[in-house]
Amino acid sequence: MFDADTCLAHTLHGFRDHLRDLGVAAPGATDIWRGYMTTGTHEQVHGDKREVAQIKIDGDTRKFVLRHHDGAETESVLLPMTGKTGRPRLTLCVSSQVGCAMGCTFCATGTMGRTRNLTTAEILAQWHHATHSVHAQVTNIVFMGMGEPMDNFDNVLHAIRVLTDGAGPAIGARHIGVSTVGHVEGIDRLTDAMAAGGLRSLRLAVSINSPNDDVRSELMPITKRWSLDDVADALRRWIDAGGRPVLLEWVLIPGVTDDPAYAQELGDRFGDIPCRVNVIPFNPIDSQPWTSPDQHTIDTFMAAVAQAGLHVHRRATLGRKAAGACGQLVTASVRKTRTRQAT
Ligand code: SF4
Repeated sequence: MFDADTCLAHTLHGFRDHLRDLGVAAPGATDIWRGYMTTGTHEQVHGDKREVAQIKIDGDTRKFVLRHHDGAETESVLLPMTGKTGRPRLTLCVSSQVGCAMGCTFCATGTMGRTRNLTTAEILAQWHHATHSVHAQVTNIVFMGMGEPMDNFDNVLHAIRVLTDGAGPAIGARHIGVSTVGHVEGIDRLTDAMAAGGLRSLRLAVSINSPNDDVRSELMPITKRWSLDDVADALRRWIDAGGRPVLLEWVLIPGVTDDPAYAQELGDRFGDIPCRVNVIPFNPIDSQPWTSPDQHTIDTFMAAVAQAGLHVHRRATLGRKAAGACGQLVTASVRKTRTRQAT
């Protein structure tokens, strides 16, 4: 019998090699791994003891809480979208850490601090449960859930290799996106991995949110380690190495990041880099008094970005009622603790 995590933590080749290294004769290794990945069970694999502790639904958006073996919980979100060609797709937003150490002030996860990194198996378990417990037909994956993926680089990269394995999850690299807070070391490592082959069409998104380091360091402490110029240089290296155009994420917060003048600064800094700006209307969180922007504010800012010469797109607001929208992920156990402290 094999442990479920041994399957989840390996590509098919890796699973075969792992068994060989253990001296385990496993002529049926391919059947075991493929069976567990594609049907959810196999008679020779111990059942995964994790459980989906909760599912919250807002329209077609579903957020589920996965309780791991040590009791740690992560949140993952299933987001229905329509692709450019009009075909429906279902994006799974996965977590890479329990909590997050980056402390972005507009994000509920940032208030949790980081408890620990997720293993490759724990990242894959989110896909496995979404597919075989929640019965979702996942077509796309984004690393935009709890945690900074570059802060757990090795496990995230290996998870991407498992997710793209054609014998198992078979999610093409072009359907996988990694979103970072601007972790330059991680961007460079991802650039090397992308350029080395197999992951050429991977998507990269960077959370920008501010026109300059002064404003940004108030929102994103990472700015003290890597400036916006450092981030822009890393993105140029990504493009020079053959990476796809980058997504620049901009959380639009009324009175904080919505000044149309910021758009020109953004254009001046990133205008030479193939990119698209993704405007994300702020989703309210308990720790901040900020509200969501109204339509006029969104339209005005997007027009200013376009005027500055950048492609701009609005991210659809999905899952807000289930506290599953961008920046709202914080596990129920933390929420309960906070509620108790507040009473
Ligand atoms: S936005 Fe991302 S990097 Fe920043 S605190 Fe939230 S989860 Fe962490």
